[in-house]
Amino acid sequence: NTSLKETDSDLFTLLSDEGKRQENHIELIASENYTSKAVMEAQGSKLTNKYAEGYPKKRYYGGCEFADGVETLAIERAKTLFSSDYANVQPHSGSQANAAVYMALLNPGDTILGLSLDHGGHLTHGAKPNFSGKLYNAIQYGLDTATGLIDYEQVAALAKEHQPKMIVAGFSAYSRVADWQKFKDIAESVGAYLFVDMAHVAGLVAAGLYPNPVPIADVVTTTTHKTLRGPRGGMILCKANPSLEKKFNSLIFPGIQGGPLMHVIAAKAVAFKEATLPSFIAYQRQVIDNAKAMAEAFIQRGFGVVSGGTDNHMFLVDLTAKGLTGKQADEVLGAVNITVNKNTVPNDIQSPFVTSGIRVGTPAITSRGIGSEDAAKLAHWMCDLLDNIEEEQLYSVVRQDVARLTAKFPVYP
Ligand code: PLP
Repeated sequence: NTSLKETDSDLFTLLSDEGKRQENHIELIASENYTSKAVMEAQGSKLTNKYAEGYPKKRYYGGCEFADGVETLAIERAKTLFSSDYANVQPHSGSQANAAVYMALLNPGDTILGLSLDHGGHLTHGAKPNFSGKLYNAIQYGLDTATGLIDYEQVAALAKEHQPKMIVAGFSAYSRVADWQKFKDIAESVGAYLFVDMAHVAGLVAAGLYPNPVPIADVVTTTTHKTLRGPRGGMILCKANPSLEKKFNSLIFPGIQGGPLMHVIAAKAVAFKEATLPSFIAYQRQVIDNAKAMAEAFIQRGFGVVSGGTDNHMFLVDLTAKGLTGKQADEVLGAVNITVNKNTVPNDIQSPFVTSGIRVGTPAITSRGIGSEDAAKLAHWMCDLLDNIEEEQLYSVVRQDVARLTAKFPVYP
């Protein structure tokens, strides 16, 4: 039982380099965050040794008395946090949670209606290369190109025309507040299930700063590692509905997963507890304020921002008017230790590997303590560079600015 450093120095070096990268880079990927040390402690716990197929008090293995306690805590905390009557905390990821929902509610070949990938939907919302686009007849809605807002009229028209069995709401790249009730009304008008994937905004929902879809939708899934700031993983929630609850449980296990990752479930329980603290609400408020401050700076500097701003933790910069691609911007910013991801903008003329935009998210910088003033400065440095990508000495100036900022706000002091 030697330490990691002694057992595997190659891996130890890679992990320590990754630790340095996280400290020294400004992380603006909207789906990433830094968990607390307590969450990591739970995830690194001895529960990684335990098999616990089944559910609390109904296991296929012995020795689950403490695993039962852990999973029950996670379930009860999730239910309280999101006002749900049911929670399944076992999905290994958001995609697994979504796969279980599809398999529970649909048969292969059934029609679904989801937000298209290039308008901000997730792969699992019916994109062609994903199981959801391969197994189901996936019809896709999009944003209104003029406003950058979800085009509910189009959703309603497509629902009427195609009579989907399930409508998927939720997104990976949308900076406004989705109207869950409007989606529900449309779903009801055609007798479809409403499935909301709140992966991106779950932390804002937990803090009461974004509408909670749980009381409205038939089923809600989320990841636990984005704004919610827990370990990597997924979860399924719904209002009391015994027959659906039974289906979701049996679809996760034994349907598509084997033994639950009990150490991850322990870490989820910790994150759900942290999400009830007043400091968590203040954190989420700052996440939104930082996103607004950055989006305003980009607009001031003449960059396009899809939908003209943000009400949540992210926004999309449209670089078309600046004659840049998302790939270029990603590389330029990466060169000064600012990490973003290239992202398609609505009706993008570039391929998904090139794109015309970047997605900017503030959960991670806010976790390290950066406030609105520094967030706005950071956005201006990004604009300086993107406006002058040929100016070589600017790169070292911004690299130094970034180094000062990251030193001032360590991730794990
Ligand atoms: N749903 C949405 C809206 C997402 O943005 C993501 C991930 O980015 C997922 C689901 C998938 O989560 P995972 O990567 O854990 O499978």
